[in-house]
Amino acid sequence: MLDRHPPIVVVLNQISVPTARQIMTTLPGAQLYGLTGRTTDVDVSFTDFGDTVRQLYRQGVPIIGLCATGILIRTLAPILTDSKTEPPVVAVAADGSVVVPLLGGITGVNDLAERIAAVLAIKPAITTTGKLQFNTVLPAPPPGYRLANPEHVKTFIADLIAGVSVSIDGDAPWLTASDIPFCADGKRQIIVTTQAISGSSDRLVYHPTSLALSIEEPSQLTIPEWIEVIRDRLATANLALAAVDCLVLPKTPAGAAIAALGTSLNLPIRWVESPEWSQNLTVIPLPNPNSLLLTPYSLNILSATAPIDPNSIGQPQGKLTIVGTGPGSAEWMSPQVRETILAATDLVGYHTYLDLVKDLSAGKQCHGSDNRVELDRSRLALDLAASGKNVVVVSSGDPGIYAMAAAVLEVLDKEAKPEWQTIDLQIAPGISAMQAAAAAVGAPLGHDFCAISLSDILKPWEVVAARIAAAAEADFAIAFYNPISRHRSWQLAAAKEILMKSRSSTTPVILARNLGRSGQEVKVITLGEFAPELADMRTVILIGSSQTRLIPRADGGSWVYTPRSYQ
Ligand code: SAH
Repeated sequence: MLDRHPPIVVVLNQISVPTARQIMTTLPGAQLYGLTGRTTDVDVSFTDFGDTVRQLYRQGVPIIGLCATGILIRTLAPILTDSKTEPPVVAVAADGSVVVPLLGGITGVNDLAERIAAVLAIKPAITTTGKLQFNTVLPAPPPGYRLANPEHVKTFIADLIAGVSVSIDGDAPWLTASDIPFCADGKRQIIVTTQAISGSSDRLVYHPTSLALSIEEPSQLTIPEWIEVIRDRLATANLALAAVDCLVLPKTPAGAAIAALGTSLNLPIRWVESPEWSQNLTVIPLPNPNSLLLTPYSLNILSATAPIDPNSIGQPQGKLTIVGTGPGSAEWMSPQVRETILAATDLVGYHTYLDLVKDLSAGKQCHGSDNRVELDRSRLALDLAASGKNVVVVSSGDPGIYAMAAAVLEVLDKEAKPEWQTIDLQIAPGISAMQAAAAAVGAPLGHDFCAISLSDILKPWEVVAARIAAAAEADFAIAFYNPISRHRSWQLAAAKEILMKSRSSTTPVILARNLGRSGQEVKVITLGEFAPELADMRTVILIGSSQTRLIPRADGGSWVYTPRSYQ
């Protein structure tokens, strides 16, 4: 859990800040969240403690609250569900005198509490009996080991605490170094093995991740066939898939073509370019396959004497996600986008957009650039991802609407470097400016609508003009993006002229500027009143259809909507 997300330290008052900063010295990448109006010098300010903490918890972010345990308990109690996946939650006294691990026994809260206690030079208030008695947490083995039968661990620990004898078979330094009183012939057994052995309430089985799967000539089989072969080969050798650390593939187009195997088998991929990677591993000889697939293939199962450090083999699979942060404010950013940004190693984007996510960018490489260099930015992002980085390209609004997703795909399409095929490429959607503008005034896009960019940098003005005319004649509501800029001043007036040919001057027009950002301004006027100087490049303009109507509001403003049916 700690590997996925650096923890967030939450403070409610200024006297807690020095303790929080001291704690953070042992937590690389951690951020300090402080209550607005009560704290200064924090990384992120929040206004609602409950909402903020619950949101972090739901996203699996480890939380350290410098506050009373009761506050954290009451805040999280309504949403507690699965102890196997919850993030660690720790309460720390504001003066640093007490550290209480509250939640996340399985996901490492005791270790986190011990780290915090060490910097504060105190003893953590550990309450997990197994941890206290045996100095290890059997349900949460360290990296490199996987518990095969977690469903039995509670009863198993209860038996050990009751004094039932236990023996160990296999090698795991973390177990032998613990305070579990192992004996030669125990009534209970802990087995550490790569073999596919089943556990029971009398027998805990841990798989060390000391195996690697490698495919040398990937082009022979399809993905479903490879899955069958892999399952068959492991079964033949009686080896557990849970003992496999990674899938090693050649960094070639043929290797890239079967990258989806990693997701299917839930195995991280490592790309290799020469055979030297396997020097310290032993190939496990296998008898002839039982599989019906009689084609010769090039799968090897290799083993090491200890859990494999995946970073010791080749290069990880790079990831490139093009995200949309929404128009501006944090509450419009989807949890998926937030999570993706938090997990990234590198952020790529226009300076202004990277600024919008600076609360999430601590410890990451930020590659900011100017607005007009989308293709260079795309190339950089693809190259970084192909080198194994976890890259996020940041767009505002939705990344697929006049934004970076199309630019990246354009480069991928036209330049088609083979190594880009190895990237795990994803697009994470966001709320587009037209949606935020519509929501601010009602439902002007409630019936058929279209979006038109008025920029004639990437398409000739004749095309833009023809589209405006066609959309106006077809009675679409229209969202104008990129309405005007320093280099393009006359287009907006020309657009109005075209619209006026088929739409009445009383047609409602919405001018929405800086949505979700400081200086937000939303105006409802008529097409007749509309003038180019009322918009700038941070404005999205919505033009109503012939059916779009206004409803007066008590505050003097009006709701705007387009009915779902024609009168
Ligand atoms: N991908 C973005 C659009 C980028 S094009 C999206 O889906 O929203 C840039 C244009 O989007 C701007 O010229 C403006 O017309 C509009 N826009 C983007 N963010 C905006 C905001 N916060 N408020 C108003 N308009 C915005």
